[in-house]
Amino acid sequence: LTERLQKAMEKLRRKPKVTEADLRETMREIRLALLEADVNFKVVKDFVKTVREKAAGAEVLKGLNPAQQIVKIVNDELTEMMGETATPLNKSAHIPTVIMMVGLQGAGKTTTAGKLAKHLKKEENARPLFIAADVYRPAAITQLQQVAASIDVPVFEMGTDVDPVEIVRQGMEVAKEKHNDYVIIDTAGRLQIDEQLMEELAKIKELAKPDEILLVVDAMTGQNAVNTAQGFDDQLDITGVVLTKLDGDTRGGAAMSIRAVTGKPIKFVGEGEKMDNLDVFHPDRMASRILGMGDMMTLIEKAQENFDQEQATQAMAKMKENSFDFNDFLDQMDQITKMGPLEDLLKMMPGMANNPALQNINLDPKQFAHIKAIIYSMTPEERENPDMMNPSRRRRLAAGSGRPIVEVNRMIKQFNQMRKMMRQVTNGNLSGMENLMGG
Ligand code: GDP
Ligand code: MG
Repeated sequence: LTERLQKAMEKLRRKPKVTEADLRETMREIRLALLEADVNFKVVKDFVKTVREKAAGAEVLKGLNPAQQIVKIVNDELTEMMGETATPLNKSAHIPTVIMMVGLQGAGKTTTAGKLAKHLKKEENARPLFIAADVYRPAAITQLQQVAASIDVPVFEMGTDVDPVEIVRQGMEVAKEKHNDYVIIDTAGRLQIDEQLMEELAKIKELAKPDEILLVVDAMTGQNAVNTAQGFDDQLDITGVVLTKLDGDTRGGAAMSIRAVTGKPIKFVGEGEKMDNLDVFHPDRMASRILGMGDMMTLIEKAQENFDQEQATQAMAKMKENSFDFNDFLDQMDQITKMGPLEDLLKMMPGMANNPALQNINLDPKQFAHIKAIIYSMTPEERENPDMMNPSRRRRLAAGSGRPIVEVNRMIKQFNQMRKMMRQVTNGNLSGMENLMGG
């Protein structure tokens, strides 16, 4: 949540009873927070109206924790507005599936074309072909060729002196001959929407009959992104949107507006300049992003209710100095068990929802008992020195705890991963963790 919203919620929470006027005030703050996050004003207006109705309908005021309920309604509503679930790429029944990239100059069409090709190669072993249809800047073709070379994808190009429609026509022929299963057309952009460009794109569309017209928009352009999306959609009837440059400090409000204004799904997001920095768009994650920090409020509340502050601060310090050991691990497990499913908690933390480190960590609380059994079989010295767990000690632990050796190994591996992850969190994103730990 933005600071503004957080303060409003804080105020709300301190009240023993929440009145109609409090709710109105909170709605005002939500409205401002969304505007600050670059959400289109008309979208915000509709949104706040819906949230207010839902809040009234749910009788939030009579509930136990009004502030939290409102945050939840806001979050759910945001998610729904952005499409609820991820929307896959359209696919043709016959090869090739044709994807046409459109968008303003500098939005990231060429880069995204490359990322997409890499994604398709990886996901389905695809054999894409690029068509270089941006003939207005000589550098554009070179750039596409460089991108293509880095991911080993062929480019069909005819230089800059040929009509782009003709280039696409011939490129499609080549794709048929070579049995490419995808054709990705990299088109030209302009600084602003202009008629000439739109005509050219319409002609390419008519000829290539793309299964997917992906509009690439720069999330950093905020409100302008919405107008751009509207303009392109009116003229070309786009099938999906890629929102780029979300790695910048944009709050992603454009995502919400674009979906609301055009009704077209956001399919991917770009989060960096590298070929790997493309992600499938998940509305729920974006909702958290617009709200600022994952579902931090709930997390902090849960943490404050259940965490032993002093112990947590100690653990925190230990993580920082890298002396977090199995005793601390036991303590943390006890604390965490009190708080509910660990997975859910971690997902609420900023940057954690899709942290690859989490994928390898088994967070099933039922396993905690087994993990504890293993740790209880350790000598005090072993508990304090996690790095001394050699194979013979591991075998002894397995025998002592009655757990299979693979499980002992897995537990130690997970412990080390957790230490590593904690270190990353404490070094990189201190505020999140310190909030959690009540620091
Ligand atoms: P085009 O004119 O639409 O083809 O845009 P380009 O693909 O040439 O991209 C313009 C600039 O934006 C390049 O410097 C890209 O590296 C950069 N860019 C593209 N996508 C992203 C992204 O998701 N994040 C960041 N940080 N930069 C991006
Ligand atoms: Mg380009």
